[in-house]
Amino acid sequence: MLHVKNLTFSYNKTPVLKAISFEAKQGENIAIIGESGSGKSTLLKVLYGEYDLNEGHIFWQDEQILGPKHNLVVGYDFMKYVAQEFDLMPFITVEENIGKFLSRFYPEEKQKRTDELLEVVELTNFAKTKVKTLSGGQKQRVALARALAKQPEIILLDEPFSHIDNFKKQSLRRSVFKYLKENNITCVVATHDKEDVLGFADRMIVLNNHKIAVNDFPEALYKNPKTPLIASFFAEFNVLNNKIIYAHQLRVVDKSDLKSTVKRSFFKGHYYLIEAELNSKSVFFEYSKQVSVGSTLFLKIIEG
Ligand code: ADP
Ligand code: MG
Repeated sequence: MLHVKNLTFSYNKTPVLKAISFEAKQGENIAIIGESGSGKSTLLKVLYGEYDLNEGHIFWQDEQILGPKHNLVVGYDFMKYVAQEFDLMPFITVEENIGKFLSRFYPEEKQKRTDELLEVVELTNFAKTKVKTLSGGQKQRVALARALAKQPEIILLDEPFSHIDNFKKQSLRRSVFKYLKENNITCVVATHDKEDVLGFADRMIVLNNHKIAVNDFPEALYKNPKTPLIASFFAEFNVLNNKIIYAHQLRVVDKSDLKSTVKRSFFKGHYYLIEAELNSKSVFFEYSKQVSVGSTLFLKIIEG
């Protein structure tokens, strides 16, 4: 269990993180979300013991995570951290990077483990490739595999799929999160991508104004986003009568009190996102077809 209690941290005068408390059970996946600059990366670095806290404490099981003042070598065996900027060894191969910290006294086991991890990050075909020739996304996958190599109890991931192209992202995400669950590895993942959260995270922590704004189940936050900040993380939304209404919760009907005038249509694949004017404000909703500018459409709010 990860225990974070009343953590406050500042690089200089003004605190970046204030009175942060939360827990993560063994094997749980906790997503940290928040706008750019909200302190996600800082929180992960602090959890890793890279900095000394101003206040509070962090425990993994019975062991306190200490900053450099109290712990000469940053980091612990049971915890791995994959930074936004990953530092690999460019002149050796992918498999050498992954196996770097595995014992060379057991070459067969080392090879087996490396092969397993190559599969998790879908890089089997690149085993013998020198890291310097890889793309940013491929390097990110090597960094992930290397962090998993010695089977940590807890892993901290900073926007782990941010450099990976959309073709690979979906399957890689499933593969990595499945591996973590199967191996009961606790995961704290900082992200601004809802796809990293929905379907994978057990809890979602929203950072705002240096504090935890909410800590809840993703499904609960999705269904009842209390603030525009939370809603904006999930989908296009409107504020109508002080209520947050997602674009997909507005239906076009034959007649209603909500009369809108179409301004633009955006092709989105299986639907169009329509921007229209409603009571002299912009409103966004989804519709099955493109609509010409100036058309009148009546809207109805639906649940779900
Ligand atoms: P996020 O990962 O959510 O984008 P960061 O944790 O990187 O946010 O940054 C949070 C705040 O801390 C920002 O205001 C940033 O400018 C500041 N910050 C980050 N790293 C440092 C540093 N090494 N020294 C001073 N300020 C920093
Ligand atoms: Mg960051």
